[in-house]
Amino acid sequence: MKELIVRGAGQLAWVETASPSLSDARSALVRPIASASCDLDRRLIAGVTPFKPPFALGHECVAEVLEVGDEVTTVRRGDLVSVPWKIACGECRQCRAGRATACTAVPRHAAYGVPAGGHWGGLFSEVVHVPFADAMLVPLPPGLNPLAVASASDNLTDAWVAASRPIAVREEARVLVVGGTESLGVLAVQMAAAAGAASVDYLDDNDYRRDLASRSGANIELAPVLDERYDVVISATRDPHALHRGLLALAPGGHCSCIGIIFEDPKIPLFGMYLRDVTLSVGACNVRPHIPKVFDLVGSGRCDPLLVSPTVVSCEEATEALVQPLAKCIMVRERVT
Ligand SMILES: [Zn+2]
Ligand SMILES: [Zn+2]
Repeated sequence: MKELIVRGAGQLAWVETASPSLSDARSALVRPIASASCDLDRRLIAGVTPFKPPFALGHECVAEVLEVGDEVTTVRRGDLVSVPWKIACGECRQCRAGRATACTAVPRHAAYGVPAGGHWGGLFSEVVHVPFADAMLVPLPPGLNPLAVASASDNLTDAWVAASRPIAVREEARVLVVGGTESLGVLAVQMAAAAGAASVDYLDDNDYRRDLASRSGANIELAPVLDERYDVVISATRDPHALHRGLLALAPGGHCSCIGIIFEDPKIPLFGMYLRDVTLSVGACNVRPHIPKVFDLVGSGRCDPLLVSPTVVSCEEATEALVQPLAKCIMVRERVT
C-alpha cells in the first residue's frame, strides 16, 4: 500500500510499504477516503516541532471500513467512520475517566501521524490499522458529507470542546478568538456561535483568515484596548505574545482555552490572572466522546467546516498542496467497498 511520509525536513513523499493486517479480534482495517490536514501538519513537515522524521503523516480523516475482527460489534465492512487522532483502548482507568489521551494500554502519546508515542501509521495512508475499533471509530450518520467532517478526528472537535465547555457555564458569554493557525481559530468562531455565545470577536493580523472569520459570523473590527472584556478567550495561535494578549483580555471569572500548540515556554501574566480569578485550560483534547455532537452540528448546518477547507486535492496533488502557506486541505480517495 501507499503511505505518505515526512522523509526529512520539508520532504513529503509517497512510499510503498507492507499493508497492515488485523492484530486481534478487536481491531479493524480502514481506508481513508477524506483525509484533512491538521494545523500541526505543515509544521511537522517543515521539521520545526520536537517530532523528527521519518514518520507517516495524517491524523484527521473519514475512512471506509475494510475489515473487522470477530469481536468488533459497532462497525462493519463498508461503513464510513471518523477515526480519532488518539490511539486508546476505551477500557483502562484513564479511558473510563474520559482521559483517552492518557490511555495506559498503549505507550503515552500513541497517535496517528505524530511520532510521539511510537509509530501507528498516518491517516493519509491507503490502509490504516485501528487496534480498538469499537472504542475508537465513530460511524457517520447517513447523508453526512465526509469532506465536511474530515477534521472531526481533531481540529473540528477540538474547536467545539474549547468553545462549548466554558460557554456552557457562562450566561451571555462575550467571546474572543485569538487566531493564528490555519483553521482552528475560524472553526472556534463557528463553534462559539453554535455553543450560544452572545458575541464573538476575532483577533488576527492575517487578512485571509480575518475574512473567513467574518464570513463565519465574527466581528473583526476590535476595540483598541481589549483588556478585561471577554468571559471566554479561545487561543488558537502559536504566538506567545498573542496568547499573552488573550489572557489579559479575560474578564473577572473568565476562561481561556488554549488550543494552539506553543512549543516554547511562554510568559503567563499570572498575578493579573490571580486577581481576576480566571482559568487557563491547556491540553490535547479527547475528541472521541464529542464527535457525535460535532456530526449533529455539521449535519444541521450550525457550522460549516468546508468554509475553512477550500482546497480538495487528489493523492497525486497532496505532496505539493500540503506544504503551501495557509494550507488546510482535504485529500480524497475513491471508495472500494
Ligand atoms: Zn492535530
Ligand atoms: Zn485506555
